[in-house]
Amino acid sequence: MEALIRSGLFQLVRTQPVPQEAPSLLARYGELLVEKNKVMNLTAITDPQDVATLHMLDCAALLNCAGFTGKTLIDVGTGAGFPGLPLKILVPSLEVTLLDSLNKRVDWLNETIGALGLEGIQAVHGRAEEAGRELEFRERFDFAAARAVADLRLLCELCLPLVKVGGRFLAMKGTDCAQELEAALLAIQILGGRVEDCFDYQIPHTNVTHRVILIEKSAPSPEKYPRRWTKIQKSPL
Ligand code: SAM
Repeated sequence: MEALIRSGLFQLVRTQPVPQEAPSLLARYGELLVEKNKVMNLTAITDPQDVATLHMLDCAALLNCAGFTGKTLIDVGTGAGFPGLPLKILVPSLEVTLLDSLNKRVDWLNETIGALGLEGIQAVHGRAEEAGRELEFRERFDFAAARAVADLRLLCELCLPLVKVGGRFLAMKGTDCAQELEAALLAIQILGGRVEDCFDYQIPHTNVTHRVILIEKSAPSPEKYPRRWTKIQKSPL
């Protein structure tokens, strides 16, 4: 896994040098994931080569979309740690909060953070729409990121309230997301966001192309958002 990650990072990341120990730490994380996945449902991707490409390198592509040095990031619906944990390994000065509503995944993430010897990263058990109403989390982060959590129109209500004015929400999607983005434009506007850019990239050693939608938080989110999840689903913005 390590050699594949090393060469993939070399191909993919053009904006900054990555720490020397990053490929081996990412490979170790991948090994821990594959091992634990035998007894706990953490990921559908189990082949080590796919873990290296479709998880680690896919998340590393975010480095080309923004500058994370010395910033704060919340990963909403992190699951087994994607994209927040690889980003932390690639940018050690980034302060990361991994948020997930499934407690056993959060427990495993905190164990894994300890096993990898990482500092300035924590996994928190909670729902994004509740965190978005708490003082500790609301409009506190330079970045929110999310991959494979919900349709963008709903996801914006989970993520944008967590981002500071002047910060960014990075939504990781497939390249077929044009309609999804179009349908989310009103929600983005209501929540104080503005679509800034889209980045397409091919994951090294694969034929897979993904897209990151970069949304700037240009104004505070109105106080009544986020609503309860049932309300968000029933009456999307
Ligand atoms: N982001 C990871 C990835 O790309 O591999 C995990 C994706 S997994 C399909 C979706 C995760 O989002 C699950 O772990 C689920 O528990 C979490 N989730 C769903 N809705 C959530 C919410 N409202 N707040 C926090 N976590 C949520």
